[in-house]
Amino acid sequence: MNSLYLTISDRCAVVTFDLPGSKANTLGQAVLADFEAVLSQLEQRSDLDGVVLQSGKPGMFIAGADLKELGAAGTDEAHNRRLVQRGLDIIARFERLPCPTIALIDGACLGGGLEVALGFDYRLCGSHPKTELGFPEVKVGLIPGWGGTQRLPRVVGPSLAAEMICSGEPIKPTRAREIGLIFDAVPSENLVEEARRLLTWARQSGDWHLARRRKQQPIGLSEEQASFTFAVAKAQVLQKTKGQLPAPLAALEAIAQGCNLPLDEGLKIETNLFLPLVGSVISRNLIAVFFMNQRLAKDTGVADASIQPRTITRVGIVGAGIMGSGIAGAHLRRGIPTLMLDVAAEQLTKGVAAITKSLQGRVELGRSTPQEMLQALSLLNTSQNQAMLSDCDLVIEAVVENEEVKNRLFRELQPILNDDTIVASNTSTISITRMAEAWKKPAHFAGLHFFNPVDRMQLVEVIRGSKTSDATVVTLVAHAKRLGKSPIVVKDCPGFLVNRILFPYMNEAYALLEEGADPRAIDKAATTFGMPMGPITLSDVVGLDTALYAGKVVNTAFADRAKQTRIVQELVAAGRLGQKSGAGFYSYAKGSRGSDDPALAFFLEKCRTDRRAIAVEEITDRLFLAMLVEASLVLSEGIVRDPADVDLGLLLGIGFPAFRGGLLRWADTEGLDQIVRRLAKYEALGKRFQATPQMLSLAKSGGRFFS
Ligand code: NAD
Repeated sequence: MNSLYLTISDRCAVVTFDLPGSKANTLGQAVLADFEAVLSQLEQRSDLDGVVLQSGKPGMFIAGADLKELGAAGTDEAHNRRLVQRGLDIIARFERLPCPTIALIDGACLGGGLEVALGFDYRLCGSHPKTELGFPEVKVGLIPGWGGTQRLPRVVGPSLAAEMICSGEPIKPTRAREIGLIFDAVPSENLVEEARRLLTWARQSGDWHLARRRKQQPIGLSEEQASFTFAVAKAQVLQKTKGQLPAPLAALEAIAQGCNLPLDEGLKIETNLFLPLVGSVISRNLIAVFFMNQRLAKDTGVADASIQPRTITRVGIVGAGIMGSGIAGAHLRRGIPTLMLDVAAEQLTKGVAAITKSLQGRVELGRSTPQEMLQALSLLNTSQNQAMLSDCDLVIEAVVENEEVKNRLFRELQPILNDDTIVASNTSTISITRMAEAWKKPAHFAGLHFFNPVDRMQLVEVIRGSKTSDATVVTLVAHAKRLGKSPIVVKDCPGFLVNRILFPYMNEAYALLEEGADPRAIDKAATTFGMPMGPITLSDVVGLDTALYAGKVVNTAFADRAKQTRIVQELVAAGRLGQKSGAGFYSYAKGSRGSDDPALAFFLEKCRTDRRAIAVEEITDRLFLAMLVEASLVLSEGIVRDPADVDLGLLLGIGFPAFRGGLLRWADTEGLDQIVRRLAKYEALGKRFQATPQMLSLAKSGGRFFS
């Protein structure tokens, strides 16, 4: 046995789970074999007063099944059925031990870990701040398949169980105690003693027999109760997933069908609903996204692992507009002293008000306390005097998007800042390499591209100019992580990573409009594919003036393949800037959702080059293939270091659907030969639909972007 230790003293058996060489306890095949071995020993003992399962890792009970094994699972149903049954048998064997059993949970107890814990008569939680209980399976396209959909409803009731399983969100011990998922939550240092007391009480009162029986029996919901509970839950799931994710619906089905049956029969239903999901494309994609996020969390930003980030203690932010105040707020929330500078006093006042409002919002949502808010605000200084920046380790520039203004600012800051101060520009469109040339230490100059709104957008692009040093990149990556962001390192190029790939998609939407497609049809094609909103709505939300300006930068840089369109320019010229001005493609007179606007017809007529009916397949193909061609170029040019950077960048930056795994993984799933054939259909439209050499070679060799 490698991962489990059994000790027996005073007639109490303590099983300690501590997977060697890993921060997390996960349930892979080797660990299951260890559980079987422990159970064989326990089953031979008739002298035990109790069995306790605990973890040897601080802050970690059991993180769940081994996702590497699950991600590699094929679709061989008989094989998968055996694996599922193995876990079910282990849990059932714990449930049959002839003495009371307790799971001591002092850390994360998730997925398969919670299923194991539910096989125990009692669950007792410690006070470690990482302690939480939940079923995140739906987030990787699965359902709890080791009895979770059957035991949880029997312990906390079907409605709460459905909520926990379908949302995938974990709960803290206080809530777990309220709903009866755990017996109690106690200070960690008292856990063992409390467990012994609980075992004595359980034995004396016989309560453990009741706890066991309750888990074996049907719940006994009336037909009315059942139909109401599951209709409400289903409506909520459909609203959230737009019907695109099968797992939460399968989980509901398992709970609904199984809850009025004896446990054994319920488990069979669960298994039959679980197996089609294992190894499915959606599950594999979501597991891949999980691992891409893990890779990003560990990535330092450069190949040389020996390069350490510099310490950043004082940060200056120049520009107190939308972005500057957002970036300052992100620093304050993480306890970093921040100086916010602007040329205009009223902008500073507005900036501070915006920061206060955002911090207040967090208090209202219960995400922080009023004390924490005051503490954060006390770290903020504002000034109009550039000399105040002199002792900053990092200065982030977020002034207006005008190269002249930015260059003038850098010239003014040159004598004030130390030679080793890192200077990072938040520009969306201006070349970092070009701006760095005029800086005294180009090695210390980079881009740090936050997305709007800063407090909600996870992605930060760290832009490497041609002379940016590895040390600067590593420092900025570490700093962005300190802010709780997900930084992706991108080589300087027009549009950087996300906007460079986004604009071909936006342009294609405008081109389709001009050829005759209906704006709603274009948006619908994109949302059906899984995008959170269509490109026409997105244009209105971003602002058509911004879309026009940023689009021009990308279109000019890649003029050989950029499709020139007129519609956005016409709308901007007429003052229709999108949501912010009350009208763009749609009208916002009746609210932020946008309604059809008859006035749009005039502009469409003016710009239309054709009036043909365009099938939804063509719309979808053109939107996403145009994006894909650009993504392949970005990868071939080495703008990012890994295909996962492209996929995660789009997932985090524009809400590309996670269930598709990312843009490049979507192409892999379709097959590159298929993609190249589909591109050929649109070749006449221009170079933007020409398969790249990389795509052609992958198609020929049967290769994939992700090897
Ligand atoms: P904004 O117009 O809201 O704010 C710009 C601020 O800079 C103003 O308060 C202005 O007074 C101040 N300013 C101008 N010149 C200055 C100077 N010399 N010294 C100090 N302050 C000066 O602009 P924003 O939307 O916050 O954008 C700022 C930067 O962030 C731009 O480079 C923009 O491209 C980039 N960006 C914007 C977004 C977005 O969605 N708004 C997203 C990503 C990046």
